[in-house]
Amino acid sequence: MTVDPHNPFAIETRDPAEYQAALGVRRFEKLKRQIRHVWSNEDYFRPRLIAAGVSSPDDIQTLDDFRRLPAMLDKASHRQSQEESLARYGHPFGLHLTVPLEQAIHLAATSGTTGQPTFYVFSKRDLDLSHATLGRLFAQAGIRPGETTFHAFGLSLWLAGVTYVQALEAYGARPVALGAEAGVPKILRYIEFTRPTTLFATPSMVSQLIERAPGEIGKPVGALGIKRVLCAGEPGAGLPAFRQRVREEFGAEVFDFMGGAWHNAALSCASHDYHGMHYLTDDTCFRYDLVDPVTKAPIELTDGAVGEALHTGLEYEAAPAFRYATGDILKIHVGPCPGCGVFGTRMEVVGRVDDMLAIKGVKVYPVAIQNVVLQFRPRVSGELRIRLDAPPPKVEPPLRLAIEAAADLPADAWPALAHEIEHRIRELLTFRPEVSILPHGALPRSGQKTKLIEIVEKTATASSPH
Ligand SMILES: [Zn+2]
Repeated sequence: MTVDPHNPFAIETRDPAEYQAALGVRRFEKLKRQIRHVWSNEDYFRPRLIAAGVSSPDDIQTLDDFRRLPAMLDKASHRQSQEESLARYGHPFGLHLTVPLEQAIHLAATSGTTGQPTFYVFSKRDLDLSHATLGRLFAQAGIRPGETTFHAFGLSLWLAGVTYVQALEAYGARPVALGAEAGVPKILRYIEFTRPTTLFATPSMVSQLIERAPGEIGKPVGALGIKRVLCAGEPGAGLPAFRQRVREEFGAEVFDFMGGAWHNAALSCASHDYHGMHYLTDDTCFRYDLVDPVTKAPIELTDGAVGEALHTGLEYEAAPAFRYATGDILKIHVGPCPGCGVFGTRMEVVGRVDDMLAIKGVKVYPVAIQNVVLQFRPRVSGELRIRLDAPPPKVEPPLRLAIEAAADLPADAWPALAHEIEHRIRELLTFRPEVSILPHGALPRSGQKTKLIEIVEKTATASSPH
Protein backbone atom coordinates (compact mmCIF):
# COMPACT_ATOMS: atom_id res chain seq x y z
CA MET A 1 0.00 0.00 0.00
CA THR A 2 1.44 3.40 -0.88
CA VAL A 3 1.33 6.13 1.72
CA ASP A 4 -0.34 9.43 0.88
CA PRO A 5 2.34 11.81 2.17
CA HIS A 6 -0.23 14.55 2.76
CA ASN A 7 -2.22 12.22 5.02
CA PRO A 8 -0.04 9.23 5.85
CA PHE A 9 -2.39 7.84 8.50
CA ALA A 10 -5.34 7.99 6.06
CA ILE A 11 -7.46 9.99 8.51
CA GLU A 12 -10.90 10.54 7.01
CA THR A 13 -12.25 13.68 8.63
CA ARG A 14 -11.89 16.98 6.76
CA ASP A 15 -12.58 19.09 9.82
CA PRO A 16 -9.21 20.75 10.64
CA ALA A 17 -9.55 20.49 14.43
CA GLU A 18 -10.74 16.86 14.31
CA TYR A 19 -7.98 16.09 11.83
CA GLN A 20 -5.24 17.38 14.14
CA ALA A 21 -6.84 15.59 17.10
CA ALA A 22 -6.87 12.27 15.20
CA LEU A 23 -3.33 12.90 14.06
CA GLY A 24 -2.33 13.54 17.68
CA VAL A 25 -3.67 10.12 18.72
CA ARG A 26 -1.75 8.32 15.96
CA ARG A 27 1.35 10.37 16.67
CA PHE A 28 1.23 9.50 20.37
CA GLU A 29 0.96 5.77 19.57
CA LYS A 30 4.39 6.04 17.97
CA LEU A 31 5.72 8.36 20.66
CA LYS A 32 5.05 5.85 23.44
CA ARG A 33 7.75 3.61 22.01
CA GLN A 34 10.07 6.54 21.35
CA ILE A 35 9.71 7.80 24.93
CA ARG A 36 10.90 4.36 26.14
CA HIS A 37 13.75 4.52 23.68
CA VAL A 38 15.07 7.86 24.97
CA TRP A 39 14.37 6.83 28.61
CA SER A 40 16.93 4.06 28.10
CA ASN A 41 19.58 6.77 27.61
CA GLU A 42 20.91 7.30 31.13
CA ASP A 43 23.50 9.94 30.24
CA TYR A 44 21.24 12.59 28.80
CA PHE A 45 17.53 12.04 28.29
CA ARG A 46 16.58 10.15 31.44
CA PRO A 47 18.00 12.75 33.88
CA ARG A 48 16.21 15.49 31.96
CA LEU A 49 12.92 13.62 32.01
CA ILE A 50 13.32 13.01 35.76
CA ALA A 51 14.08 16.71 36.27
CA ALA A 52 10.81 17.44 34.45
CA GLY A 53 8.94 15.29 36.98
CA VAL A 54 8.72 12.07 34.96
CA SER A 55 9.47 9.01 37.09
CA SER A 56 8.70 6.43 34.41
CA PRO A 57 7.74 6.51 30.71
CA ASP A 58 4.22 5.47 31.78
CA ASP A 59 3.77 8.87 33.42
CA ILE A 60 3.39 10.35 29.94
CA GLN A 61 -0.07 9.10 29.01
CA THR A 62 -1.27 11.47 26.31
CA LEU A 63 0.09 13.76 23.65
CA ASP A 64 -0.88 16.67 25.90
CA ASP A 65 1.30 15.24 28.70
CA PHE A 66 4.13 15.01 26.21
CA ARG A 67 3.56 18.54 24.94
CA ARG A 68 3.74 19.96 28.47
CA LEU A 69 7.29 18.67 28.92
CA PRO A 70 10.00 21.30 28.57
CA ALA A 71 12.38 21.33 25.60
CA MET A 72 15.07 18.66 26.10
CA LEU A 73 17.60 19.83 23.52
CA ASP A 74 18.55 23.00 21.69
CA LYS A 75 21.68 24.13 19.86
CA ALA A 76 23.50 25.09 23.07
CA SER A 77 22.70 21.91 25.03
CA HIS A 78 23.40 19.84 21.91
CA ARG A 79 26.87 21.38 21.68
CA GLN A 80 27.41 20.86 25.42
CA SER A 81 26.34 17.21 25.12
CA GLN A 82 28.90 16.76 22.33
CA GLU A 83 31.69 18.35 24.41
CA GLU A 84 30.91 16.10 27.36
CA SER A 85 30.76 12.93 25.31
CA LEU A 86 34.09 13.84 23.75
CA ALA A 87 35.60 14.21 27.22
CA ARG A 88 33.92 11.11 28.65
CA TYR A 89 33.81 8.68 25.72
CA GLY A 90 36.27 10.10 23.20
CA HIS A 91 33.65 10.83 20.52
CA PRO A 92 31.74 14.08 19.87
CA PHE A 93 28.37 12.59 18.92
CA GLY A 94 26.72 13.45 22.17
CA LEU A 95 25.72 12.03 25.52
CA HIS A 96 22.30 11.86 23.88
CA LEU A 97 23.52 9.22 21.41
CA THR A 98 20.94 6.46 21.85
CA VAL A 99 22.61 3.67 19.87
CA PRO A 100 26.04 2.04 20.30
CA LEU A 101 28.63 4.14 18.47
CA GLU A 102 29.28 1.42 15.87
CA GLN A 103 25.66 1.66 14.74
CA ALA A 104 25.99 5.39 13.99
CA ILE A 105 26.99 5.10 10.34
CA HIS A 106 26.20 8.46 8.74
CA LEU A 107 26.81 12.06 9.78
CA ALA A 108 25.69 15.47 8.71
CA ALA A 109 26.08 18.71 10.62
CA THR A 110 25.25 22.35 10.88
CA SER A 111 27.97 24.74 11.86
CA GLY A 112 26.87 27.37 14.29
CA THR A 113 28.30 30.76 15.10
CA THR A 114 31.03 29.14 17.20
CA GLY A 115 32.27 27.17 14.22
CA GLN A 116 31.78 23.88 16.08
CA PRO A 117 29.48 21.53 14.18
CA THR A 118 26.36 20.08 15.75
CA PHE A 119 25.84 16.61 14.34
CA TYR A 120 22.90 14.79 12.90
CA VAL A 121 23.66 11.11 13.48
CA PHE A 122 22.01 8.33 11.49
CA SER A 123 21.82 4.60 12.09
CA LYS A 124 21.35 2.41 9.01
CA ARG A 125 17.62 2.33 9.67
CA ASP A 126 17.52 6.13 10.21
CA LEU A 127 19.31 6.63 6.91
CA ASP A 128 17.03 4.27 4.97
CA LEU A 129 13.94 5.96 6.37
CA SER A 130 15.45 9.38 5.59
CA HIS A 131 15.88 8.31 1.99
CA ALA A 132 12.26 7.15 1.91
CA THR A 133 10.90 10.38 3.41
CA LEU A 134 13.04 12.55 1.12
CA GLY A 135 11.85 10.33 -1.74
CA ARG A 136 8.31 11.49 -0.96
CA LEU A 137 9.51 15.06 -1.34
CA PHE A 138 11.21 14.37 -4.68
CA ALA A 139 8.10 12.59 -5.98
CA GLN A 140 5.80 15.43 -4.89
CA ALA A 141 7.99 17.92 -6.74
CA GLY A 142 7.46 15.87 -9.90
CA ILE A 143 10.99 14.45 -10.14
CA ARG A 144 10.91 10.98 -11.71
CA PRO A 145 13.53 8.23 -11.32
CA GLY A 146 15.80 8.34 -14.35
CA GLU A 147 16.01 12.13 -14.50
CA THR A 148 19.28 13.99 -13.95
CA THR A 149 19.26 16.39 -11.01
CA PHE A 150 21.82 19.03 -10.08
CA HIS A 151 22.97 19.48 -6.51
CA ALA A 152 24.28 22.98 -5.71
CA PHE A 153 23.83 23.07 -1.95
CA GLY A 154 26.96 23.06 0.20
CA LEU A 155 28.40 19.55 0.47
CA SER A 156 30.76 19.99 3.42
CA LEU A 157 28.91 18.02 6.05
CA TRP A 158 25.70 20.00 5.52
CA LEU A 159 22.50 18.06 5.98
CA ALA A 160 21.41 19.11 2.50
CA GLY A 161 24.77 17.86 1.20
CA VAL A 162 25.86 14.22 1.04
CA THR A 163 22.67 13.06 2.78
CA TYR A 164 20.62 14.54 -0.08
CA VAL A 165 22.98 13.25 -2.72
CA GLN A 166 22.55 9.72 -1.35
CA ALA A 167 18.78 10.16 -1.10
CA LEU A 168 18.66 11.26 -4.75
CA GLU A 169 20.71 8.23 -5.73
CA ALA A 170 18.45 5.92 -3.70
CA TYR A 171 15.49 7.50 -5.51
CA GLY A 172 17.20 7.00 -8.86
CA ALA A 173 17.47 10.66 -9.83
CA ARG A 174 21.16 10.78 -10.78
CA PRO A 175 22.51 13.80 -8.87
CA VAL A 176 25.34 15.83 -10.37
CA ALA A 177 26.81 16.55 -6.95
CA LEU A 178 29.03 19.51 -7.66
CA GLY A 179 28.01 21.45 -4.56
CA ALA A 180 28.02 25.16 -3.78
CA GLU A 181 31.74 25.00 -2.96
CA ALA A 182 32.54 24.69 -6.68
CA GLY A 183 31.47 28.31 -7.22
CA VAL A 184 29.05 29.94 -9.60
CA PRO A 185 31.06 29.82 -12.88
CA LYS A 186 31.77 26.09 -12.61
CA ILE A 187 28.20 25.32 -11.54
CA LEU A 188 26.88 27.15 -14.60
CA ARG A 189 29.23 25.27 -16.94
CA TYR A 190 28.36 21.88 -15.42
CA ILE A 191 24.62 22.58 -15.65
CA GLU A 192 25.04 23.53 -19.28
CA PHE A 193 27.00 20.31 -19.92
CA THR A 194 24.91 17.80 -17.91
CA ARG A 195 21.39 19.04 -18.80
CA PRO A 196 19.62 18.40 -15.49
CA THR A 197 15.82 18.73 -15.20
CA THR A 198 16.00 19.85 -11.59
CA LEU A 199 18.19 22.26 -9.65
CA PHE A 200 18.68 22.12 -5.86
CA ALA A 201 20.14 25.38 -4.49
CA THR A 202 19.67 28.13 -1.91
CA PRO A 203 17.75 31.20 -3.05
CA SER A 204 21.00 33.22 -2.86
CA MET A 205 22.70 30.76 -5.20
CA VAL A 206 19.72 30.77 -7.56
CA SER A 207 19.87 34.57 -7.71
CA GLN A 208 23.59 34.49 -8.47
CA LEU A 209 23.10 31.94 -11.24
CA ILE A 210 20.49 34.21 -12.81
CA GLU A 211 22.72 37.27 -12.58
CA ARG A 212 25.93 35.65 -13.80
CA ALA A 213 24.80 33.18 -16.49
CA PRO A 214 24.99 35.66 -19.40
CA GLY A 215 28.55 36.66 -18.47
CA GLU A 216 29.82 33.15 -17.68
CA ILE A 217 28.17 30.96 -20.30
CA GLY A 218 26.90 33.51 -22.79
CA LYS A 219 23.24 32.67 -22.31
CA PRO A 220 20.51 33.29 -19.75
CA VAL A 221 19.52 30.53 -17.28
CA GLY A 222 16.26 30.21 -19.21
CA ALA A 223 18.21 28.48 -21.99
CA LEU A 224 19.42 25.67 -19.69
CA GLY A 225 16.26 23.54 -19.85
CA ILE A 226 15.75 23.31 -16.08
CA LYS A 227 12.13 22.40 -15.33
CA ARG A 228 12.08 22.86 -11.59
CA VAL A 229 14.10 24.69 -8.96
CA LEU A 230 13.98 23.37 -5.39
CA CYS A 231 15.13 25.84 -2.76
CA ALA A 232 15.87 25.47 0.92
CA GLY A 233 18.12 26.86 3.60
CA GLU A 234 16.76 30.39 3.39
CA PRO A 235 13.29 31.91 3.33
CA GLY A 236 13.57 33.30 -0.22
CA ALA A 237 11.55 30.63 -2.01
CA GLY A 238 8.46 31.59 -0.06
CA LEU A 239 8.66 35.19 -1.22
CA PRO A 240 6.34 36.09 -4.11
CA ALA A 241 8.89 38.31 -5.86
CA PHE A 242 11.59 35.63 -5.77
CA ARG A 243 9.17 32.96 -7.03
CA GLN A 244 8.10 35.20 -9.88
CA ARG A 245 11.70 35.94 -10.82
CA VAL A 246 12.68 32.25 -10.91
CA ARG A 247 9.61 31.39 -13.01
CA GLU A 248 10.45 34.15 -15.47
CA GLU A 249 14.20 33.71 -15.67
CA PHE A 250 14.45 29.90 -15.57
CA GLY A 251 11.06 29.18 -17.12
CA ALA A 252 10.77 26.65 -14.28
CA GLU A 253 8.50 25.74 -11.42
CA VAL A 254 9.83 26.84 -8.05
CA PHE A 255 9.47 24.92 -4.79
CA ASP A 256 10.33 25.81 -1.23
CA PHE A 257 11.19 22.86 0.98
CA MET A 258 12.77 21.70 4.20
CA GLY A 259 13.67 18.27 5.38
CA GLY A 260 16.15 15.57 6.05
CA ALA A 261 16.60 16.09 9.78
CA TRP A 262 15.11 13.33 11.93
CA HIS A 263 12.70 12.20 9.22
CA ASN A 264 10.99 15.44 8.46
CA ALA A 265 10.12 16.69 4.98
CA ALA A 266 7.94 19.52 3.72
CA LEU A 267 7.50 20.96 0.23
CA SER A 268 5.50 23.85 -1.12
CA CYS A 269 3.38 23.25 -4.17
CA ALA A 270 4.29 25.09 -7.37
CA SER A 271 1.14 27.22 -7.27
CA HIS A 272 1.57 30.85 -8.31
CA ASP A 273 0.99 32.24 -4.83
CA TYR A 274 2.83 30.78 -1.86
CA HIS A 275 0.75 28.87 0.67
CA GLY A 276 3.46 27.38 2.86
CA MET A 277 5.06 23.94 2.66
CA HIS A 278 2.89 20.85 2.61
CA TYR A 279 4.03 18.67 5.48
CA LEU A 280 4.83 15.21 4.13
CA THR A 281 5.94 13.24 7.18
CA ASP A 282 3.27 13.31 9.87
CA ASP A 283 3.89 9.59 10.41
CA THR A 284 7.63 9.89 11.12
CA CYS A 285 8.22 13.30 12.67
CA PHE A 286 6.43 15.82 14.89
CA ARG A 287 7.93 18.99 13.47
CA TYR A 288 5.33 21.59 14.39
CA ASP A 289 4.90 21.03 18.14
CA LEU A 290 4.34 24.76 18.70
CA VAL A 291 5.01 26.57 21.96
CA ASP A 292 4.81 30.20 22.96
CA PRO A 293 8.28 31.67 22.26
CA VAL A 294 8.31 33.46 25.62
CA THR A 295 6.34 31.33 28.12
CA LYS A 296 7.10 27.99 26.34
CA ALA A 297 3.50 26.85 26.96
CA PRO A 298 2.04 24.54 24.26
CA ILE A 299 -0.07 26.24 21.60
CA GLU A 300 -3.18 24.54 20.22
CA LEU A 301 -2.44 23.16 16.76
CA THR A 302 -5.25 24.86 14.89
CA ASP A 303 -5.29 26.44 11.46
CA GLY A 304 -3.26 29.67 11.64
CA ALA A 305 -1.37 28.83 14.87
CA VAL A 306 2.05 30.51 15.21
CA GLY A 307 4.79 29.54 17.65
CA GLU A 308 8.27 28.28 18.30
CA ALA A 309 8.61 24.77 16.89
CA LEU A 310 9.89 21.82 18.86
CA HIS A 311 11.07 18.89 16.77
CA THR A 312 10.64 15.22 17.70
CA GLY A 313 11.45 12.20 15.56
CA LEU A 314 8.73 9.59 16.11
CA GLU A 315 10.87 6.54 15.44
CA TYR A 316 14.41 7.85 15.17
CA GLU A 317 17.15 5.59 16.56
CA ALA A 318 20.46 7.44 16.87
CA ALA A 319 20.70 10.72 18.83
CA PRO A 320 17.09 11.61 18.07
CA ALA A 321 15.51 15.02 18.18
CA PHE A 322 13.27 14.72 21.22
CA ARG A 323 11.58 18.00 22.10
CA TYR A 324 14.41 19.77 20.28
CA ALA A 325 13.91 23.56 20.34
CA THR A 326 14.83 24.48 16.78
CA GLY A 327 14.46 28.22 17.21
CA ASP A 328 12.14 28.35 14.18
CA ILE A 329 8.94 30.30 14.41
CA LEU A 330 6.39 28.39 12.34
CA LYS A 331 2.87 29.17 11.25
CA ILE A 332 0.71 26.17 10.43
CA HIS A 333 -2.30 25.82 8.17
CA VAL A 334 -4.68 22.89 8.52
CA GLY A 335 -7.19 22.32 5.74
CA PRO A 336 -7.30 22.39 1.94
CA CYS A 337 -4.48 24.30 0.23
CA PRO A 338 -5.77 27.40 -1.62
CA GLY A 339 -3.10 26.77 -4.26
CA CYS A 340 -3.54 23.08 -5.14
CA GLY A 341 -6.61 22.02 -3.16
CA VAL A 342 -4.86 19.16 -1.34
CA PHE A 343 -6.03 18.67 2.24
CA GLY A 344 -3.47 18.38 5.03
CA THR A 345 -1.09 20.41 7.17
CA ARG A 346 1.13 23.11 5.69
CA MET A 347 3.71 25.21 7.43
CA GLU A 348 5.57 28.45 6.88
CA VAL A 349 8.77 29.55 8.55
CA VAL A 350 7.93 33.09 9.64
CA GLY A 351 11.12 33.77 11.60
CA ARG A 352 13.64 32.68 14.18
CA VAL A 353 13.28 33.07 17.92
CA ASP A 354 16.70 34.70 18.04
CA ASP A 355 16.20 37.17 15.21
CA MET A 356 12.86 38.45 16.33
CA LEU A 357 13.08 42.24 16.46
CA ALA A 358 11.19 44.27 19.01
CA ILE A 359 10.76 47.82 17.78
CA LYS A 360 8.86 49.92 20.28
CA GLY A 361 6.86 46.84 21.32
CA VAL A 362 6.15 45.71 17.73
CA LYS A 363 7.41 42.17 17.01
CA VAL A 364 8.91 41.91 13.53
CA TYR A 365 10.83 39.09 11.84
CA PRO A 366 13.52 40.00 9.27
CA VAL A 367 11.76 37.90 6.62
CA ALA A 368 8.74 40.19 6.79
CA ILE A 369 11.00 43.17 6.07
CA GLN A 370 12.68 41.33 3.20
CA ASN A 371 9.26 40.52 1.78
CA VAL A 372 8.32 44.20 1.60
CA VAL A 373 11.67 45.21 0.09
CA LEU A 374 11.34 42.59 -2.64
CA GLN A 375 8.08 44.20 -3.73
CA PHE A 376 10.30 47.00 -5.09
CA ARG A 377 11.90 44.86 -7.78
CA PRO A 378 13.06 45.62 -10.42
CA ARG A 379 14.25 48.88 -8.86
CA VAL A 380 16.13 47.00 -6.10
CA SER A 381 18.51 44.05 -6.57
CA GLY A 382 16.88 42.12 -3.73
CA GLU A 383 19.97 42.18 -1.50
CA LEU A 384 19.51 43.92 1.83
CA ARG A 385 20.85 44.01 5.38
CA ILE A 386 19.20 45.00 8.62
CA ARG A 387 21.86 46.92 10.53
CA LEU A 388 21.54 46.83 14.29
CA ASP A 389 23.65 48.55 16.95
CA ALA A 390 23.34 45.58 19.30
CA PRO A 391 22.08 41.99 19.12
CA PRO A 392 18.30 41.58 18.79
CA PRO A 393 15.55 41.57 19.95
CA LYS A 394 15.38 45.14 21.27
CA VAL A 395 15.90 47.74 18.55
CA GLU A 396 16.35 51.40 19.30
CA PRO A 397 14.38 53.12 16.52
CA PRO A 398 14.81 53.93 13.75
CA LEU A 399 15.75 50.50 12.40
CA ARG A 400 18.46 50.95 9.73
CA LEU A 401 18.08 49.15 6.44
CA ALA A 402 20.76 48.97 3.75
CA ILE A 403 19.17 48.11 0.43
CA GLU A 404 20.93 47.56 -2.87
CA ALA A 405 19.69 49.37 -5.95
CA ALA A 406 19.23 47.53 -9.23
CA ALA A 407 22.20 47.88 -11.58
CA ASP A 408 20.36 50.19 -13.97
CA LEU A 409 18.71 52.51 -11.45
CA PRO A 410 20.31 55.99 -11.66
CA ALA A 411 21.60 57.39 -8.36
CA ASP A 412 19.33 60.43 -8.56
CA ALA A 413 16.34 58.06 -8.20
CA TRP A 414 17.63 56.59 -4.93
CA PRO A 415 16.28 59.16 -2.43
CA ALA A 416 12.73 58.79 -3.74
CA LEU A 417 13.03 55.00 -3.65
CA ALA A 418 14.29 55.09 -0.06
CA HIS A 419 11.38 57.25 0.92
CA GLU A 420 8.87 54.96 -0.79
CA ILE A 421 10.25 51.86 0.94
CA GLU A 422 10.19 53.60 4.33
CA HIS A 423 6.58 54.54 3.73
CA ARG A 424 5.54 51.06 2.59
CA ILE A 425 7.16 49.38 5.62
CA ARG A 426 5.41 51.89 7.85
CA GLU A 427 2.08 50.91 6.23
CA LEU A 428 2.57 47.15 6.35
CA LEU A 429 4.69 46.55 9.43
CA THR A 430 3.78 49.60 11.57
CA PHE A 431 7.28 50.97 12.12
CA ARG A 432 9.28 53.44 10.06
CA PRO A 433 12.83 52.35 9.19
CA GLU A 434 15.73 54.51 8.00
CA VAL A 435 16.61 53.27 4.52
CA SER A 436 19.94 53.81 2.76
CA ILE A 437 20.23 52.76 -0.85
CA LEU A 438 23.56 51.23 -1.87
CA PRO A 439 25.06 50.78 -5.35
CA HIS A 440 24.45 47.45 -7.07
CA GLY A 441 27.00 44.84 -5.91
CA ALA A 442 27.83 46.63 -2.63
CA LEU A 443 26.55 43.78 -0.45
CA PRO A 444 28.52 40.51 -0.50
CA ARG A 445 26.80 37.39 -1.88
CA SER A 446 27.75 34.21 -0.09
CA GLY A 447 26.03 31.59 -2.24
CA GLN A 448 25.06 29.84 0.96
CA LYS A 449 23.00 31.25 3.78
CA THR A 450 22.96 35.03 3.76
CA LYS A 451 22.37 36.64 7.12
CA LEU A 452 19.92 39.51 6.90
CA ILE A 453 21.00 40.99 10.22
CA GLU A 454 24.34 42.70 10.67
CA ILE A 455 25.47 44.13 13.96
CA VAL A 456 27.16 47.42 13.05
CA GLU A 457 27.98 50.01 15.60
CA LYS A 458 27.03 53.51 14.62
CA THR A 459 30.23 55.16 13.38
CA ALA A 460 29.56 58.33 15.36
CA THR A 461 29.59 56.32 18.60
CA ALA A 462 32.53 54.16 17.59
CA SER A 463 34.80 57.02 16.62
CA SER A 464 33.89 59.35 19.44
CA PRO A 465 36.93 60.06 21.62
CA HIS A 466 34.84 61.46 24.47
ZN1 LIG B 1 -0.68 23.30 -2.26
